[in-house]
Amino acid sequence: TKWVYSFGDGKAEGSAGDRNLLGGKGANLAEMSSLGLPVPPGFTITTELCTSYYANGRTYPSELAGQVATALDEVGRITGKTFGDPANLLLVSVRSGARASMPGMMDTVLNLGLNDETVAALARDSGDERFAYDSYRRFIQMYSDVVLGVDHEHFEEILEDQKARRGHELDTDLSAAEWQHVIGLYKAKVEEELGSPFPQDPQEQLWGAIGAVFSSWMNHRAITYRRLHDIPESWGTAVNVQAMVFGNMGETSATGVAFTRNPSTGEPKLYGEFLVNAQGEDVVAGIRTPQNLTEEARIEAGSDKPSMEKVMPEAFAAFVDISQRLERHYRDMQDLEFTIERGKLWMLQTRSGKRTAKAALKIAVDMAAEGLITTQEAVSRIDPASLDQLLHPTIDPSAPRNVIGIGLPASPGAATGEIVFSSDEAEEMRAQNRKAILVRIETSPEDIHGMHASEGILTTRGGMTSHAAVVARGMGKPCVSGAGSLRVDYRSGTLVAMGHTLRKGDVITIDGATGQVLKGSVPMLQPELSGDFAAIMEWADQIRRMKVRTNAETPADARMARSFGAEGIGLCRTEHMFFDDDRIVAMREMILSDVEKDRRAALAKLLPMQRSDFAELFEIMAGLPVTIRLLDPPLHEFLPKSEEEVADVAKAMNVSAEKLRQRTEALHEFNPMLGHRGCRLAVSYPEIAEMQARAIFEAAVEAGKKTGSPVVPEIMVPLVGIMKELDFVKARIDEVAKAVMDETGTTIDYLVGTMIELPRAAIRAHVIAEAAEFFSFGTNDLTQTTFGISRDDASSFLETYRQKGIIEQDPFISLDLEGVGELVRMAADKGRGARPGIKLGICGEHGGDPASIHFCEEVGLDYVSCSPFRVPIARLAAAQASA
Ligand code: ADP
Ligand code: MG
Ligand code: MG
Repeated sequence: TKWVYSFGDGKAEGSAGDRNLLGGKGANLAEMSSLGLPVPPGFTITTELCTSYYANGRTYPSELAGQVATALDEVGRITGKTFGDPANLLLVSVRSGARASMPGMMDTVLNLGLNDETVAALARDSGDERFAYDSYRRFIQMYSDVVLGVDHEHFEEILEDQKARRGHELDTDLSAAEWQHVIGLYKAKVEEELGSPFPQDPQEQLWGAIGAVFSSWMNHRAITYRRLHDIPESWGTAVNVQAMVFGNMGETSATGVAFTRNPSTGEPKLYGEFLVNAQGEDVVAGIRTPQNLTEEARIEAGSDKPSMEKVMPEAFAAFVDISQRLERHYRDMQDLEFTIERGKLWMLQTRSGKRTAKAALKIAVDMAAEGLITTQEAVSRIDPASLDQLLHPTIDPSAPRNVIGIGLPASPGAATGEIVFSSDEAEEMRAQNRKAILVRIETSPEDIHGMHASEGILTTRGGMTSHAAVVARGMGKPCVSGAGSLRVDYRSGTLVAMGHTLRKGDVITIDGATGQVLKGSVPMLQPELSGDFAAIMEWADQIRRMKVRTNAETPADARMARSFGAEGIGLCRTEHMFFDDDRIVAMREMILSDVEKDRRAALAKLLPMQRSDFAELFEIMAGLPVTIRLLDPPLHEFLPKSEEEVADVAKAMNVSAEKLRQRTEALHEFNPMLGHRGCRLAVSYPEIAEMQARAIFEAAVEAGKKTGSPVVPEIMVPLVGIMKELDFVKARIDEVAKAVMDETGTTIDYLVGTMIELPRAAIRAHVIAEAAEFFSFGTNDLTQTTFGISRDDASSFLETYRQKGIIEQDPFISLDLEGVGELVRMAADKGRGARPGIKLGICGEHGGDPASIHFCEEVGLDYVSCSPFRVPIARLAAAQASA
């Protein structure tokens, strides 16, 4: 097997396409070398070797040593030097490099091959003693730290102490003799810590470093990082061994990093920093303040340190040329690492640069305009999830942050407001035109109105799928959940955070992007939805096949969703319309009546309100489809709880509080999620469905007249598992439709369909499709009922499941393709089989999740529906899925 791939001297055995085999760094070093760019020669030991190493009890195949020796000889031939030979010294770096860049892997070891003898040779050959001993001390420190496990703090202490004694401020102030002294102290420290001297044999050093890279693949940090970023363990890492070039050879040498475009704004200008007389990570380590690359950037930054353009004009010109060439070659913004040795430029790394969401948009749009990429590629370059950052106000990155706690970044955006501890207080605040942050231990369905009334939500308990998190994301409100270090005490009305005691009315800011809780208000940046954002969205719309609708029930949400490009409503949850103050009493009256006549009387009060709700939505969505779901939640969610509420309803119904309490008790359910809800309500109390159907049809007639475009309502029956349930409810709807048409003398086109949210419905989809004119996959409930897991209770153990590797992702966030997805696929196929052309959509939280959207495209759904703030994400993800 070939385990080792060489590069250098304008050639390479690998190329950029060999990322899986050579890792990102190795593949790009090979590519740059083949392009004829100045890359120090070297070789890459493959990721396959890493896999073999672990498969064989951490041993190497026998042929590895020979392949490494041959490749090292080749490096020697190209450089005219020999590894370990004081007469003509070759030094190397040993660099790790996985497929995906992975912090947590072993750090790079530079200057490998130095020892007490070769350092003298280096001093002699370079004519620069200070440089030679500076390199040796760096090597001892790095190698001891990353290979031998001697904590780097030991070395930092020694160096700080020496600098203080000699009155030096900067590392570069130390003389050769002073470094020699430091080196003696370093070596003594290593021997003290390890009980054996620092290794002098270059071969031992080399194999020690190679072994350390491969071992670091299984260190704790790397394992954690892989888990967090879904990187498979089987990928392995490569090792790159490369001839050293030196940025620390005095004033004509330097090291630096650059981006071909500005990674935070996307501006098409070279952006970066460098340090004269420095090596490796000195620039990022902040040992000295780095200098700007270009004069323009220097002037903008108001720096008095000269730019690279000024002090090293030739190397600068060469670098500008190469950076442009690399960007054109890779057709993407590059992140570059380089070193200048006595005026000569060397390239040490290139890769696609990380960027902010804003920069990603600008770069993609600019590159398409420059003709470097197609508009389709531009669309594919944007991570849909990153758009979330752009749709909400964010904290000005330059603003100081007074962080008093941290929780989970449950819903993006930042919000400032006065603390309130209950939903009623939030509503009072809003009534006074004040901004509130709702602070709760956790939230429940009763807090919906308070969440609506506040700017943002902070909870001290619950995960990313807790009630607060899910509802906030749906509403597009910033939310920080599970901020466990904060203490909320409802009784005393206090929030205790890091020694601060805050009360109702005190101002805090929450940052839903980072999970931070800050004291006071902070300057914000407003979202920018025109320009690059609009351009990408327009291109995405040209590409995608699936429609994107929104889940909305309030006019405000519906309007916002339309402005984000929603093409109709995929889910209008009518129950949310009943929580308003004047309606909840009528609703409770209806629920608590024990005879049909009384229920009908209460429903008659609700009818005009429902009708005007629907008419408004139809008007906002004029010309677009609107799917309205009949009442779904268990009735207990509407029941009066406090004495006061019970008294109000009793009065309205003209019954005693005692009788009302008995009725409330009778409605109690042990497991409401699986109880009397969904179409089961319509079967028990058809008058509820009839009232809703009437409101829908009358509103359709009204809105149709007003807007001039006929409304085609889609009525959706929830939680059907048995075909006859749908038959029963549909018959009631059809009757009402006929009545309204007769009364108004208008024909109404409408569709009746069902949610597929029970496994039985998926299994019987071909039969249900005989009555259903559309299916909408309610994947929230379908996930709950398929797994038999209640979402509200899942956060306590799903995270444990993730950590123990039992599940990879929370199935409530990203659709479980193997199980729930299989049911969706089956039901879609069966539905189409029974009713060709049946309309298919999805309306669970998953409708806004990019991975789930890919799946929806694959099974050929007609549309996805998601909360308003996720509409742009879904538009982009749907475009990427159909590309
Ligand atoms: P990371 O993966 O952390 O970026 P690298 O392997 O890129 O680590 O090494 C970090 C830095 O070390 C490089 O940016 C470069 O400045 C320096 N470096 C690595 N190899 C060499 C080399 N052969 N000659 C000079 N400097 C090197
Ligand atoms: Mg690097
Ligand atoms: Mg449901």
